[in-house]
Amino acid sequence: MKKLLTLWLLAISLAAAAQSQHRIFCGNEYLPDLTEQHHPGYKDAVQQAFDRAKNHSASRATNAVTYTIPIIFHVVYGTAAENLDDSILQSEIDVLNADYSRTNADAINTISYFDSVGADTHIQFTLHSTVRVQTSNQFTLDLFTGLPDSLIKFSAAGGDDAIDPDHYLNIWVVNLQPSLFGQLLGYSYPPDGLPNWPTGQSSAAPQPGYDGVVLDYRTVGANNPNPINFSGMNLVIRGRTGTHEIGHYLGLRHIWGDGATFGTNDCQQSDGIDDTPFANTQSNFDCDTTRNTCSQIEAYYGANAPDMVQNYMDYSSEECMNLFTKGQAALMQNTLEINRPMLATKSYPLAVSEAAATTVAVYPNPTTGIVYVRSAESTDAATTVVVYNMLGETMGVNMVTQAGALKLDISSLAGGVYTIDIVKNGAHTTKKVVLSK
Ligand SMILES: [Zn+2]
Repeated sequence: MKKLLTLWLLAISLAAAAQSQHRIFCGNEYLPDLTEQHHPGYKDAVQQAFDRAKNHSASRATNAVTYTIPIIFHVVYGTAAENLDDSILQSEIDVLNADYSRTNADAINTISYFDSVGADTHIQFTLHSTVRVQTSNQFTLDLFTGLPDSLIKFSAAGGDDAIDPDHYLNIWVVNLQPSLFGQLLGYSYPPDGLPNWPTGQSSAAPQPGYDGVVLDYRTVGANNPNPINFSGMNLVIRGRTGTHEIGHYLGLRHIWGDGATFGTNDCQQSDGIDDTPFANTQSNFDCDTTRNTCSQIEAYYGANAPDMVQNYMDYSSEECMNLFTKGQAALMQNTLEINRPMLATKSYPLAVSEAAATTVAVYPNPTTGIVYVRSAESTDAATTVVVYNMLGETMGVNMVTQAGALKLDISSLAGGVYTIDIVKNGAHTTKKVVLSK
């Protein structure tokens, strides 16, 4: 094993030396192999977690659920510039929410070939809190001893401790120094469910304190004033390193399957997602939407599909990226269901009209079986009413119009809390009702 590691590192070093020292990359190209060296079995555990998410058959009404993930930023800074303003952190949250809901303004740029697979992931983010720590540490990638986690993620070492990584997405914002291998933009730990974790903790990383995302401070937000230079030009930064790294954190791989670190792979490496076509390498910050590096017929498309260079999980320019796919969205949702089950708050529906909410009455509440919904809309033929359980599954219940209200009989359901979703012309109003038995 040690010999293999040495050979691997030597190959990487030689290849890296032959490349531009200004290469820009994501640490997740290396993370699985590096972590495997220190924690044998790690890669198998990551694969098993991926397979669990991929094979999870979603019985819930997926599109009715929105998953909201609370973020804790750890700004670990040395200089004033690295101590990012709150407005930049908020911009990052805004970018994430647009990209993950496919409300990003440039979604219209998705090429027509892939337009039908672009997805709203129904994953959203809120800023829970920000911790700021000044340090004299310099953070750099050292392939021989591992990523710089031990300095970043522990207060005693001049970084900042993770906070409850089962319930919060911890994001460390630091200055990642250039290394022999180029400029690292960020990295994150995918879910793995390693068996040596304490009972009840099932998310990721070699130990809980490492779990989360690390971002270079210059990549955060769409309004970041600090440039990153690449081959004599400043990279376009729109906060999408965060979009990409959180994709890894939720189980996604690079769309070229990580088979080629520096050169090209043989078009057999897959990211495990059906609707992201094979590619033999990363897109190298280009935006050539006609690029097609693998010629096989893709089962999902029934054709030789082009590379999906606009995907957030490629290495395209941030002004080129604009989509996650339906397959990627399902994988991330399933990750939240089974591999990171304590992380997100689930809510229904997609949008709530507050004005309408004040005019809707649901009674009696609690109920023992019969519940009435009365509103200006509830008895309108254009209105639909759906009852969900706490898993987001649609409940079949009898509904009849009676005395100007909609009468619902939920007596056949188990006791508990249900959500009544009243939809008219695309506007949702929801009410929770308690069925006591
Ligand atoms: Zn990556």
